[in-house]
Amino acid sequence: MLNVAHRGASGVAPEHTFPAYDLALALGADYLEQDVHMTRDGVLVVLHDATLDRTTSCSAFVADLTLGELQALDAGSWFNGAYPARARPEYAGLRIPTLEEVFRRYGTGARYYVETKDPELYPGMEEELLRLVYACGLHGRALIQSFSVQSLQKTHALDPAIPLIRLHPEVGAPAIAETLPETACYAAGIGPRHTDVDEALVKAAHDLQLAVHPHTVDAIHGMRALGELGVDGVFTNYPGRLARVLTTRRRRQAIGAPG
Ligand code: CA
Repeated sequence: MLNVAHRGASGVAPEHTFPAYDLALALGADYLEQDVHMTRDGVLVVLHDATLDRTTSCSAFVADLTLGELQALDAGSWFNGAYPARARPEYAGLRIPTLEEVFRRYGTGARYYVETKDPELYPGMEEELLRLVYACGLHGRALIQSFSVQSLQKTHALDPAIPLIRLHPEVGAPAIAETLPETACYAAGIGPRHTDVDEALVKAAHDLQLAVHPHTVDAIHGMRALGELGVDGVFTNYPGRLARVLTTRRRRQAIGAPG
């Protein structure tokens, strides 16, 4: 079961910053998850929202700023304000990284799980994403995920070898199950909301060779329950917690104990 660090170790450090990614790897994550948007001058940057107001002091859209303007913003202080118990002085003043900076920093020492966010806002984002994957020598170490079927199908047409994960909002297992045969035509797996995962959905996906990577689970009992359902990976804001659950699971399996 893969340990996907959702926005990095975003439960303990400001999401999508180097400290969050550094910590995720140190805590045992198998994949660093990125959300990408595109600046006005066409650079892919890692942050979750299309607007900057939640994680910086600016209220603009990412698409309206140049990279220089975006990287002048402080993307760490909000975390110190929101989570005083986890605040650290070094988080103040953290920059929003470009996707290329992330790829260059960790290189082949990490695996990447990149989401094309709001692709309708950013024509050409799929081409630029693939260009960076190739330029940084990361083909085979990067998964691409999206809620947008159009973005996934476009990426598949550009590079049929790159593994894709189709994300699903909370719609219920039966609705997701209906889409699986079509999804299997271009994707390697699905990312349903964890509350939508049941045994039948996991089996139906596996019957079509689709991996199941539920999002986003932070409670230990939830991680264990998904493991018992046979999912192939889990998105979590607490990769250290999931790493401990997986270690315990392997030990128990080694001695023939259930779960
Ligand atoms: Ca995401």
